Amino acid sequence: MAYSIAPGSLALSRSVLDRAADRRRDDDWLEKAWAAPETQVVVVAGDKIQVVDDRSALRFLRPSEAPEGLRIFLGIDRESGAGMTAEGRAVFGVLVSGDGDESYGGLRELGAVLDDREAGIAVHLIGLSNWHAVYTHCGNCGEHTEVAEAGHVRRCPNCGLSHFPRSDPAIIVLVTDDQDRALLGRNEAWPAGRYSTLAGFVEPGESLEAAVRREVLEETGVIVGQEVEYAASQPWPLPASLMLGFYAKATNFDIDVDQDEIAEAKWFTREDLRVLIEAGTMALPGAISISRRLIEGWYGESLSGSW
Ligand SMILES: [Zn+2]
Repeated sequence: MAYSIAPGSLALSRSVLDRAADRRRDDDWLEKAWAAPETQVVVVAGDKIQVVDDRSALRFLRPSEAPEGLRIFLGIDRESGAGMTAEGRAVFGVLVSGDGDESYGGLRELGAVLDDREAGIAVHLIGLSNWHAVYTHCGNCGEHTEVAEAGHVRRCPNCGLSHFPRSDPAIIVLVTDDQDRALLGRNEAWPAGRYSTLAGFVEPGESLEAAVRREVLEETGVIVGQEVEYAASQPWPLPASLMLGFYAKATNFDIDVDQDEIAEAKWFTREDLRVLIEAGTMALPGAISISRRLIEGWYGESLSGSW
C-alpha cells in the first residue's frame, strides 16, 4: 500500500511541552513553580479553553491572575529559556466550573489555528477536564474520589484505588480495492454528498487489526484481508478518544451497508473525488481530522472542499 499521512499534518497530534510526570508528586516543586512569575496558566471550562480576543491563540495568565479552580500541572516548556529554574517555564491549567463564555473556544475552532505548543496544551487540558467532569466517583466502591498528582490521578479515600485518565482507542481506516479505489461512507445523520473514512471503537480483547476488519464488515459488508497498515494517531479528547489511523486492503469488494450507522458507502476513484469536489457536490471531513489526512495520503495531495 505504502500510503502515509504527511508528518506534522495532524493538527491535534502536535505537542512541545515536556509533561515532566515526575514533578506531579513533588508538592514543594509544584508550589514553587506556581509562585514563579514566569509560569503560565491556561483556563479550561468543560471542553472549552480560554483564548485571546481575536481568537488566534490561547490566553496565558500569570498565576496571580488565575481564577479559583482545580489546578493541573501540564508540563515544562524547555524551550522558553525562562522560568524559576534552568528547567524552563512551568505551564498549568485551571479547571473552572461552567461551560465557559464567549472568551472560550473549542478544539474544532482552534485546532488549525493554534501553534504546536498551544495545540498540545489544549488537547491535554481538555482531555483532563472532560475526565474530571465525569469520573468523580470510585468505580469500585462508589465513594467520591480525591484529585491527586497535580490533576492526573483521582484516588479513592475509601478503598484506596487510584483512577487514571482514560483514552478510548478507536480505529479509523481508509480501505482500498484491487483498482486502488477508496471506500468512503456517509453517516445517516449527514447531508447528501458528505463522506468520510470508516471508524469505530476497539472492543475489549480485540486487536487493532481485528477492530479494523470488524468495523468495515459491520458498516459496509466489505471484507478486509491481511493487509492492515498503521498510519498515524491523533487524540480527540471529546470526550476521550484516541484515533488510530490505518490503511487497509479489501479482498471482497461488494458493498452491503448496515443502514444503522451508515446510510451509504461507495468506492471512489481519485478522478471521482476530483470531479465531485470541483462540482461542489462532495464534502470531506475538516482539515483538523485524521480522516481527511488519510484520504489525502491516498489521493496524493491536498484536497479542497470540507464541511
Ligand atoms: Zn473506592
